Amino acid sequence: MPVRFIAGAVCPKCGAMDTLKAGSEDDGRVMVRECVDCGYQDRISQGVNSPREVATRVTPQSVPVEVPASPIKILDPNAKTEDS
Ligand SMILES: [Zn+2]
Repeated sequence: MPVRFIAGAVCPKCGAMDTLKAGSEDDGRVMVRECVDCGYQDRISQGVNSPREVATRVTPQSVPVEVPASPIKILDPNAKTEDS
């Protein structure tokens, strides 16, 4: 199944950030999230009985977990790439 990591997602079990990968099963009717750190798995059915709100990357997944801030790389849009 196609799998992608969910940027900024926090594992509801172990609290690790950016360890959740998302994919789908059953022709996309079931959304699967899995933590590569602790093995946590979560399946969300998106069938006919699913609630009106479709689960998306921005859907709140659980109670927010306090995590330490990590540095990010800021790209300067004015900087030219200097690969040479
Ligand atoms: Zn985890």
